[in-house]
Amino acid sequence: MQPLDLSGRSAVVTGGGSGIGRACALLFHAHGARVSVGDVRFADDVAVEFDRLGIHAQTCDVRREDHLRDLIDGHVERTGRIDVLVNNAGIGMVKQITEVTEADWSACIDTNLKGPFFGSKHAIRHMKNQPEGGSIVNTSSNAGLLPRAHDPVYSISKMALVALMKSLALCHGRDRIRVNCVCPGPVGDTGMMNADLDQADDRDAEIRKFISASPLAAAFDRMISPEEVAQAILYLASDAARMVTGTAIAIDGGKSLGVPPRAPG
Ligand code: NAD
Repeated sequence: MQPLDLSGRSAVVTGGGSGIGRACALLFHAHGARVSVGDVRFADDVAVEFDRLGIHAQTCDVRREDHLRDLIDGHVERTGRIDVLVNNAGIGMVKQITEVTEADWSACIDTNLKGPFFGSKHAIRHMKNQPEGGSIVNTSSNAGLLPRAHDPVYSISKMALVALMKSLALCHGRDRIRVNCVCPGPVGDTGMMNADLDQADDRDAEIRKFISASPLAAAFDRMISPEEVAQAILYLASDAARMVTGTAIAIDGGKSLGVPPRAPG
């Protein structure tokens, strides 16, 4: 078995109906895993694609503990186990503190932080009873590593997600359960990024701004792809990362290193 092979493994991905989560579900499937995806909505073409591949698609609102429990318990009933949970569902919240309502706060924190907390709770319930343990991967963000001025609630949710990951990694190493984060951005071709770009006065200028903030994105003159983030999630989910826990891997082309050099000329 190759280290990145997931044959015989079983994985649940939240927010897998589009973007990074969909790329991750497809990559896991291609590497042999039995995959269940939970999302609040599935576009028709995605539902057809998942059905064709035998990827189980289930409506699940990660703000609801009962939905997460049903998603994970149902997956275990179908496949006999859960080796991997990817807590990926998330929403953005580009608003200054003076604009944020209590409903905004709850929507963002409940989706981005409470969801992964209760998803992890129900995955760990099963993983603790498996001799091999399991792997939990959270999709945090660049905002989980760097404070950002324009989206305080989102930044809090993603930084707290890194803290949650470290706490669980520390607690459950003895159960052979590994817990890690990926911290991506800017990732193009996703629902969240498209929603951001749709709000910009000048879409092309906004894309240029995202690209120029990341040294490697600037060098390749493009945003990071959902598949490139999924590759890092696959690594963390697989046996290749058997001794890796408590890490937050930046998939950001160096964006979180600091202020990039000025453009030449
Ligand atoms: P996306 O919008 O394509 O994917 C997010 C998915 O989560 C969608 O399918 C959406 O329906 C689902 N979702 C939203 N609320 C949900 C809920 N309550 N319950 C279940 N599912 C729900 O965007 P994406 O960029 O692929 O985002 C995936 C993750 O990546 C998010 O956690 C996001 O914060 C993170 N992220 C994205 C970027 C980026 O640049 N695109 C950067 C850093 C982090």
